[in-house]
Amino acid sequence: MNIEYEVVADVPWHPCMNENAHDKVPRLHLPVAPTCNTLCIYCRRGIAAAGFQSGPGRTETILTPAEALQKTEHFLDKWGEDAIVGIAGPGDPLANFEAIETLRLLHKRFDGIHLCLCTNGLGLLDHLPLLQQIGLRHLTVTVNGIAAEIVEQIQPWIRYQKKKYTGRIAAEMLIVRQLEGIRQAARSGIFVKVNCVVLEGINSDHIFETAVEVKRHGARMINLIPRLDPTPNGLFLPAKAHKFELLQKEIAEVLPVFTKCKQCRADAEGIPGREVTCVE
Ligand code: SF4
Ligand code: SF4
Ligand code: SF4
Repeated sequence: MNIEYEVVADVPWHPCMNENAHDKVPRLHLPVAPTCNTLCIYCRRGIAAAGFQSGPGRTETILTPAEALQKTEHFLDKWGEDAIVGIAGPGDPLANFEAIETLRLLHKRFDGIHLCLCTNGLGLLDHLPLLQQIGLRHLTVTVNGIAAEIVEQIQPWIRYQKKKYTGRIAAEMLIVRQLEGIRQAARSGIFVKVNCVVLEGINSDHIFETAVEVKRHGARMINLIPRLDPTPNGLFLPAKAHKFELLQKEIAEVLPVFTKCKQCRADAEGIPGREVTCVE
C-alpha cells in the first residue's frame, strides 16, 4: 500500500523530518547521554557493537564531551557544515549533564552548526532557554500518549529534580511537561517532530487523539514506531505491516507522517537512507 501523506511546504532539509532528505543528508549521533529520567517498558538501551544490533539506545561506547567534539570535527570535515549533529541517547540527552555540556561546547566551537536532539520531553521546559541560546532548530520528542492511565502502563516512573514519581502522578507530570515543552519550543521557531511508539493493546487505539493533541501544541510531524507488539513472555515483536500502514494512513489525516524511519542507533553516523539496517 502506498501511503499518501501531506507534503509540508517548509519542512527543514533534515533526514528525520523530510523524507526527500533521508537519503541525502548526513547526521552524526553523539552517544554522550548514558542515563535516563524514566523507564519505558520497551527500552533496550545498552552497549552493543556496531553492525550487530540496530535500534535506538544502542551504542558501542559512551563519549565524553571532549571526545564528542573531536568526533564532530572529523565528521564535519568529511561531510561539510550542512550535516546534522545530534544527540539521541542512549539515554535521554536532557537528563545528562555531559550531553548538555556537549551542546554548549559544540555551539561555542562550530559556528552555525546544525544541532539536533531526541528527548522524552520531561526535561524540555527546563532546558529550552539553553536550546534556544545555542540555536537548536530541530527537535524530536517521544510522546506515547496523552492520557495518564495509558502512559503509566508504558512509563511506570519518572525522576524529576532528583525525586522519583510513580504511576498516575508520574504519567500526568510527564504528559504536562511534554505538551508544554512542545508548545514553547514550537512557538520559539523550533521544528518539532513527535515520535510515538505503538504498543498493541496498550496505546494502539490512542494514537489518533495523541496526534491531534501534539499537533494542537505545535508538533509539525509524527513518526510512528511500529516494531512493538507485546508477546505473552514480555518481548516485543514487529507489528504487522498491513495493520501499521492503516494506522499511518489514519494518522496522516491529522499530521504528516514520517514513514522512512528505521530507528537509528545512538552512535549512528552517515547518511541514514543509505545505511543497511542490521539484523538483531
Ligand atoms: Fe529508554 Fe528512551 Fe525511554 Fe529513556 S526515554 S527509558 S532511553 S526509551
Ligand atoms: Fe536528530 Fe533525533 Fe534525528 Fe538524530 S534521530 S538526527 S537526534 S531527530
Ligand atoms: Fe531519523 Fe529514523 Fe532516519 Fe534515523 S532512521 S535518521 S532516526 S528518521
